[in-house]
Amino acid sequence: MDALPLLSPLLGALQRFVLPHRCLLCGAAGDDGLDLCRDCVAELPRNRACCARCALPLVEPAALCGQCLRRAPPWDAAWVPFRYAWPLDRLESRFKFGADLAAGRVLSSLWLREPRPPQLPAWLLPVPLHSGRLRSRGYNQALELAKPLADRLGVSLHADALKRLRNTAAQTELGALARRRNVRAAFAERQSVAWPAHVALLDDVMTTGATLAECARVLKRAGVQRVDVWALARAPAAKH
Ligand SMILES: [Zn+2]
Ligand SMILES: [Zn+2]
Repeated sequence: MDALPLLSPLLGALQRFVLPHRCLLCGAAGDDGLDLCRDCVAELPRNRACCARCALPLVEPAALCGQCLRRAPPWDAAWVPFRYAWPLDRLESRFKFGADLAAGRVLSSLWLREPRPPQLPAWLLPVPLHSGRLRSRGYNQALELAKPLADRLGVSLHADALKRLRNTAAQTELGALARRRNVRAAFAERQSVAWPAHVALLDDVMTTGATLAECARVLKRAGVQRVDVWALARAPAAKH
């Protein structure tokens, strides 16, 4: 019995040797300490040519998209390093709907390998889930993505500074206008929070940005001067 505590680190090392990193997408050998192979990493759709304000993918390089030129969103800048497309969408749906937290860790690691914004916020706020949704899913996917980012970037994580007041319908099937209505007045700040001047909101996938916009409005009303939005991936905006 006494030998077991001494053996367990050895067994862990042996397991890593026998079971090295494997690609979650194709099963090939993992690359550079990641559960993803080099080819699959290279295929991930990066969002390099995009609007600086809302991260909408652009065909022609430009600072801002037409929508932001007409009417700017209520946040100040966006950091969304990927596009929501194959094969990233497969990892994301395994993470979000298949309770595959290993896929979530891979997504955070990939995010951290992308070029970082020039100015980091003081606080990182994952978009809160309603308590009912949290109970049924068991975790908040935005919070799980945010933890390694906050840790590695040295930004303090505040998962409870915003609260979700009601459980909104899933946004997936709704158009842009319905999405805005759906999340209206769905969030509030917690009482007596001493807000810093600069925060970033974090969500997993950004589509129309309706949820992030609603949260950004709450924060601006609370006196936060600069609100950035961070999301793993940008989906093409839903139709109006
Ligand atoms: Zn692969
Ligand atoms: Zn834009």
